[in-house]
Amino acid sequence: MPKQKTKVVKKKIVKIKTDKTKSRAESSAPSAGGKKAYSLLRGMHDILPKEEKYWKSAYHTAENLAEHFQFGRLETPILEEAGLFVRSIGKGTDVVDKEMYIFEDRDSNKVALRPEDTASVVRAYIMHGMWNMVQPVKMWYWGPMFRYDRPQAGRFRQFNQVGFEILGDADPVQDAELILIAHNFYKDLGLPVEIYINSIGVPEERQKYKTALVEYYRSKRSYLCDDCKQRLNKNPLRLLDCKQERCQPVKEEAPQIISWLEEESKNHFMKVLEYLDELAVPYVLKPTLVRGLDYYTRTVFEVYPVMGETEDATLGSQTALGGGGRYDLLVEEMGGKPAPAVGFSLGIERSVTAVKQYFDTKQLKFPVQQVDAFMAQLGDQARRRALKTMNELRASGLKIAYNFSKGSLKGQLEMANSLQVPYALILGQKEVQDGTIIIRDMESGVQEIVDQKKLENLLKKKLSRFDGERK
Ligand code: AMP
Repeated sequence: MPKQKTKVVKKKIVKIKTDKTKSRAESSAPSAGGKKAYSLLRGMHDILPKEEKYWKSAYHTAENLAEHFQFGRLETPILEEAGLFVRSIGKGTDVVDKEMYIFEDRDSNKVALRPEDTASVVRAYIMHGMWNMVQPVKMWYWGPMFRYDRPQAGRFRQFNQVGFEILGDADPVQDAELILIAHNFYKDLGLPVEIYINSIGVPEERQKYKTALVEYYRSKRSYLCDDCKQRLNKNPLRLLDCKQERCQPVKEEAPQIISWLEEESKNHFMKVLEYLDELAVPYVLKPTLVRGLDYYTRTVFEVYPVMGETEDATLGSQTALGGGGRYDLLVEEMGGKPAPAVGFSLGIERSVTAVKQYFDTKQLKFPVQQVDAFMAQLGDQARRRALKTMNELRASGLKIAYNFSKGSLKGQLEMANSLQVPYALILGQKEVQDGTIIIRDMESGVQEIVDQKKLENLLKKKLSRFDGERK
């Protein structure tokens, strides 16, 4: 029995602990024979079968939400014209300046592996004339993104995002609907989260704010880290993103954008917050939240896990599970008819890590789809029959586990036990000849011999006593 933690669990937003991405070690996998064994490129990672339950759950959760809120699935290519991302995300941003996987193809076209999907969503909206459809157009995506970043905890060069976008409507209710979906995604996965929210206004408001911000930061230049000294000239809003200890006091006293917002932006923001209050979605007003990409207007938000403080919660800097915001001007900027829009994306790797960590620290079992029965067999003939029987049961919607490489019945039943299946089906030489099969109740150990032809109905009948309890 695991020892219960007696420590008082404080509610606190913590940085999630992630497997440290190895630096160069990936390229030196142990070789089993004399030949070189290949490994991964730096910053890349495999998603192993043991992770599957979390990934599957995340995908199904997103898919269910999409269905419920009526978002259509959009799949865009991983490779696009590089200019698409440069123009939408903006020069001067980290993603474009430092992190794009950009190269020339065989025809000397400049192409890029997508660093995010919003630009492609906008391209697709324009290209397929979606402004002619009933507005707003609601779309969702799931897939790999690429950023040539310095790999570290929670930061990969290939990672996956799920995103939801609403195009063609400026109403604050759309911002709130999206934030609700992001919140529900984690709620359904069993992870408590908090939304950080801010408004960064429209470009004119932001320009005035930037001027005030630069003026303030110039007066504090000598206290700043080297990165911030550069940001001051290149991308002043990013000053507010700085995580360096020495810059925090300066950041805390910095002017806040909310004071530069005009009536319309202020009203929009207030309405979003009112909707969130109504929906009981918890949020934290975060005046320093600006997001890293150029195209945002007005509402911006990020999602953070809320965990109990535990001894092993390590502090890293990569904690946002995802984020998003309004981008009212992007469609026009990308060559389309003006169409206000709002969207978000969530990182799946970080979300899975956070979910795992949360369930571990709370000593909770992550719900998995359960197996209905385990097929055990003894001997060659029985194995052949077992394969056929399993296939028939699978076609009728039942989930059957097995392990043909285990010869002994004892070994197979041990495995059935560890999978916590309610029933084992046992086929030996005798049963094959008689056309029968043994059904063993794994809890009581009671076995009954039944006609193979009646197996499917009988098993379903037995399983029906769990209706509602098993997934
Ligand atoms: P962004 O588009 O930068 O706002 O990213 C949205 C989310 O995607 C982040 O909160 C992360 O969860 C995830 N993400 C972004 N970059 C990376 C990366 N390099 N590695 C892993 N996840 C990432």
